Amino acid sequence: TAVESMLLRKQLENQNKSLEKQIEARTLELQEIIFNLEINREKLIYKATHDHLTKLFNRQELNSKLKDEIRRYKRHKEDFALIMFDIDDFKKINDTFGHNIGDEVLKGLARVSQKCIRNTDILARWGGEEFLLLLPQTALEDARNIAEKVRTNIESSYLTTDNSIMITISLGLTIFNEEDTKEIFLKRVDEALYKAKDLGKNRTVDF
Ligand code: GH3
Ligand code: MG
Ligand code: MG
Repeated sequence: TAVESMLLRKQLENQNKSLEKQIEARTLELQEIIFNLEINREKLIYKATHDHLTKLFNRQELNSKLKDEIRRYKRHKEDFALIMFDIDDFKKINDTFGHNIGDEVLKGLARVSQKCIRNTDILARWGGEEFLLLLPQTALEDARNIAEKVRTNIESSYLTTDNSIMITISLGLTIFNEEDTKEIFLKRVDEALYKAKDLGKNRTVDF
């Protein structure tokens, strides 16, 4: 009868509405899950590419960016530079003030150095108290200026929160050559740094 079919239709409409509500709720749940997955993914990527203490790029990420830069060089032949630096007499800082203060110095060093560079430059913690600075599209003279800017800024900045400790750094600097491999390039910048230490520290040496 007409009454029966109207009741049936009403029932179906109600069922439909309830299903729609369920779907809506599930969709919201899924959206939240996807959102959290995306955040977790970003956190994981950050952790895998950054140094925990200084928040600079880590060694692995610098290696990967260096490979990218060498690939770019082969296409465009555009100069790029690499600076390696190391804290002078850092062992003394640790021995005198303790490891925690040493860690604070490393963080302060990262903060001050970061302020001296462009945001396309790549600064990484390469090892304990050793850092690498990759300068894309940079020729020797500009690289020298940046190295000296970092050196003099570090030399004149207090690095701990109680403004008590100052340090100096030594820097090695080199420009990528046509016939270089990544390993030769890294070896040369390391030798330049070694030379800077040998010549009395708190200076930049280029090869
Ligand atoms: P140089 O001027 O020749 O570089 O002398 P140096 O004393 O800086 O060099 P050395 O290699 O003898 O000592 C490096 C010190 O850096 C020893 C090590 O305990 C310290 N160090 C390395 N990583 C960390 C770190 O993460 N935190 C702290 N606090 N110290 C570190
Ligand atoms: Mg060292
Ligand atoms: Mg050192």
